[in-house]
Amino acid sequence: MHPFTLERPRDLNAAIAWRAQAGRTDAPVEYIAGGTDMLQLLQEDVRRPERLVSLAGLLDARIATGPDGLRIGAAATMAQVAAHPDVTGQYALIAEALLASASPQVRNQATMGGNLMQRTRCPYFRDVGYAACNKRAPGSGCAAMGAENRWHAVLGTSDSCIAANASDLAVALAALDASVEIHGAAAPRSVRLAEFYRLPAASPHLETVLQPGELIGAITVPAHPATRRSHYLKVRDRASFEFAVVSAAVALDMDGERIREARVALGGVGTMPWRVPMVEAALAGVGKDPSRLRAAAALAARDAHGQGHNDFKIEMMQRAIVRAVEIAAARP
Ligand SMILES: Cc1cc2nc3c(=O)[nH]c(=O)nc-3n(C[C@H](O)[C@H](O)[C@H](O)COP(=O)(O)OP(=O)(O)OC[C@H]3O[C@@H](n4cnc5c(N)ncnc54)[C@H](O)[C@@H]3O)c2cc1C
Ligand code: SF4
Repeated sequence: MHPFTLERPRDLNAAIAWRAQAGRTDAPVEYIAGGTDMLQLLQEDVRRPERLVSLAGLLDARIATGPDGLRIGAAATMAQVAAHPDVTGQYALIAEALLASASPQVRNQATMGGNLMQRTRCPYFRDVGYAACNKRAPGSGCAAMGAENRWHAVLGTSDSCIAANASDLAVALAALDASVEIHGAAAPRSVRLAEFYRLPAASPHLETVLQPGELIGAITVPAHPATRRSHYLKVRDRASFEFAVVSAAVALDMDGERIREARVALGGVGTMPWRVPMVEAALAGVGKDPSRLRAAAALAARDAHGQGHNDFKIEMMQRAIVRAVEIAAARP
């Protein structure tokens, strides 16, 4: 592990100033929150910062609901959010996605902000033995293309990178039209999650719209009738402690047995959490007819491109949508 010093700033402004001195990615100064992802990256030599700036005690950890929706401080742990009665009662999709993530030990330590900022699980990114990784070393190539790539994305890929975003939480939040509150040297701003992550294009090392020093201060989720009937379906290689092969987050506003409005996002298949507006539009007005559900879900495959070993995800994600819609629609 590369040696580093741990800074414990007195307040958030000092932390932001520390981090802002450094560049945008692979910087000599990095934030650390719960440390569950950062420590792995340090141990594996994937990150080699000179300084780590601890966010402990500097960020809001409150969870509150009001008529406008839900607000979650970035320092709240995954476990705290998953167990909060307002979340389990009105925003169950978030609790389901969190409880399907990692393990109780990790969830007790990991923060909501850190979850949204976790790095990809692409094995070539996490193993510095592979020299070619445009995300880790811009311009070096991509070891995943043409190699074993069953974990990789089929949506939003580029010639530079096919790594899947790993966060289950981000998929649930994308389906709920959530936003992140961004704090930095300037006044706080709010960015919809759909616009927070960047497609890899030619610069896969730039993963979000955060500027140097900026960080996530909170997550906001607008109130909407669809938040009540929802389901997070996660397909994974084993029943716990495993990332998604494919996941589907579905939230439905129902008119009796018919869908009035659907929100659908996919995980495990996109280079970022992936909303499927064509599927959502096709689900409007659909009842229990399985053939119409399948036809709507099939639209998710329109822009999908398999990489060989992960071609199966294109069929699997359609099935995941159908099953998640059926489960969500059956909820009281
Ligand atoms: C064994 C294991 C299994 C896992 N399984 C899953 C899974 O199934 N699903 C899933 O979604 N996740 C999974 N995870 C990932 C886990 O959820 C993340 O490691 C965790 O959420 C990161 O939060 P943290 O507070 O520990 O972040 P840290 O490790 O402290 O930081 C992670 C990154 O976020 C940055 N950061 C932290 N806070 C902020 C902030 N507020 N603003 C801006 N940047 C910030 C840091 O600089 C760093 O780059 C797993 C992790 C492990 C170790
Ligand atoms: S898929 Fe992306 S993260 Fe993985 S090796 Fe290729 S460039 Fe690196």
